[in-house]
Amino acid sequence: MEVDVLKRVPIREQDPKVRATNFDEVCLGYNAEEATAEASRCLNCKNAQCVKGCPVAIDIPAFVHEVKEGNFEEASRVISKASALPAVCGRVCPQESQCEGKCIRGFKGEPVSIGKLERFVADWARENNIKPELCKEKKDKKVAVIGSGPAGLTCAGELAKMGYDVTIFEALHEPGGVLVYGIPEFRLPKQKVVAEEIENVKALGVKIETNVIIGKSTTIDELMEDEGYDAVFIGSGAGLPRFMGIPGETANGVFSANEYLTRSNLMKAFDEDYDTPIKPGKKVAVVGGGNVAMDAARTALRLGADVTIVYRRSEEELPARVEEVHHAKEEGIKFNLLTNPTEILVDENGWVRGMTCVKMELGEPDESGRRSPVVIEGSEFEMELDTVIMSLGTSPNPLISSTTKGLEVNRRKCIVAEEEFGKTSKEGVYAGGDAVTGAATVILAMGAGKAAAKGIDAYLSEK
Ligand code: FAD
Ligand code: SF4
Repeated sequence: MEVDVLKRVPIREQDPKVRATNFDEVCLGYNAEEATAEASRCLNCKNAQCVKGCPVAIDIPAFVHEVKEGNFEEASRVISKASALPAVCGRVCPQESQCEGKCIRGFKGEPVSIGKLERFVADWARENNIKPELCKEKKDKKVAVIGSGPAGLTCAGELAKMGYDVTIFEALHEPGGVLVYGIPEFRLPKQKVVAEEIENVKALGVKIETNVIIGKSTTIDELMEDEGYDAVFIGSGAGLPRFMGIPGETANGVFSANEYLTRSNLMKAFDEDYDTPIKPGKKVAVVGGGNVAMDAARTALRLGADVTIVYRRSEEELPARVEEVHHAKEEGIKFNLLTNPTEILVDENGWVRGMTCVKMELGEPDESGRRSPVVIEGSEFEMELDTVIMSLGTSPNPLISSTTKGLEVNRRKCIVAEEEFGKTSKEGVYAGGDAVTGAATVILAMGAGKAAAKGIDAYLSEK
C-alpha cells in the first residue's frame, strides 16, 4: 500500500445516509494492511511528545513500532501494560487534544492516527483471544471499588494485578458506567467492545456485584467497619443532570440527555425486541453543545426524528469534539446556534408543543476566556417541537457524600481528593474520575483510577 507520509491513511466509515437509519458503528476501523501502513508514518521519536499527552502514559512509539512490523500481539501487550480499556479509548478518547495533538508528525503533516491504531490493536487482540497476564502472588487485603465506569474498572484492574482481593459495587444492573448507559452503540458497541473489556478486568480476578447502591443498600462505613474492607475507591461518576429552571421544563416530552440515552443504550429502547418506552419524537430540540448533546441528537435522529441542536454560543465555542460535530452534520442534524431557550410551551394535555427562544450575540470574554453570550433585545421566536432533550452538564450525586462520615466535598458536590493519588479526607478512602472532577473524559477517569490504585497500594503496604 502506498503511503504519503504527510497524510493519514483514510479510515473507512458507514455512509452518512445509511448510518442515520441504523445503530451500527459509524467508524469501521483499519484492517491489518491499513494499520501497518499508518504505523509506518511514525517517526519513532526519542523524546516522544505523544506519550506526554496520554493521561495513562501508553508507550505509544513502542506499540506503533510493533504494528509497523506486523507484531500485533506484542503491540497489544505494550498497550495493556498501561490501559485496561484500549478498544474503548481507541474509539472515544479526544486524541486530537491529547497524544495526537502533541505528535511531532503533526507539525508538518497530519499527526499519526494513534487512536485508530490503538483501536485496531485492541480489536485484533480480542478477535485473537489475547488475554491480560495474571498476578501470581495474592495479597491478604480486601478493597471495595464503588462504580464500574472507567475510573472504577481501571482502579480495580490495577489493584488485582498487584494481587489485592477486589470487589466492585455497581448501582445499575450492568457494569460499565457511562460506557454502557451514556455513549451510544453507534460510537461504542456494547457487547462486542465494552462487555469484552470488562470480561478482561474480571479475568484479572476482580468481582463485580451489580444492583448495589452504596449509600442505600449499604454504606462505606459498613463496608469498612463490618465487612472487612481495608480500603475503598469511589468512582461513582457525575450522573445527576442539570436543568435550566425555565417555565415548562417539567412537561411530558422533556428529558435529560442522560435519561434519554439510558433508555436507548442501557435499556435498549432502540431495539424492537425490548419493551423499554421512549418517546422518539417527530420534532426534537437538544439544548446544549457538548459530546452528550451530539449523542442525544444522533440517537433521536436514528429513532426517526427531525433534530435541531440549540446552543447559546457560536460554532467555534461548541465543546463537543470536532469529529462528533462533523458526523452530526453529515447525518442531517440542524444547528440553531447563538440561541437560548426561555420557555417550554405546553399543550392542554401537559405535553411539549414548542419552545420559545431568544437569539444571542457574543460579548466580552468572561473569566474562562470564553466570550459570554448576550441576549439580543426583541429577538424572541418560537420553535414548534414535541420533544426537548436537556444536555446542560451533570454533577455528582450527593448520595455517597451524605452517607459517609468525614468525607469532604466541595461546593459543586464533587469529592475532594488529592490529585496525585486520589486520597480523600477519610482514612483509607480514595476517589477519582467524574466524582472528583465533575463531568470530564474516559481517559482522565482511567488516569485517576490508576493513580488511586498506587495510593491504595502504598497505604495498605504500610498498614
Ligand atoms: P461513570 O462512567 O459515570 O461511572 C460511574 C459508575 O458508578 C456508574 O456505573 C454508576 O451507576 C455507578 N454509581 C454511581 N453511584 C453509585 C452508588 N451510590 N453505588 C454504586 N454505584 C454507583 N468521554 C470521552 O472521553 N469521550 C467521549 O466521547 C465521551 N462521550 C460521552 C458521552 C456521554 C453521553 C456521556 C454522558 C459522557 C461522555 N464522556 C466521554 C465522558 C465520560 O464518559 C466520563 O467522563 C467517564 O465515563 C467518567 O468515568 P467514571 O468512572 O468517573 O464515571
Ligand atoms: Fe510517532 Fe508522533 Fe509519537 Fe513521534 S510523536 S513517536 S511521530 S506518534
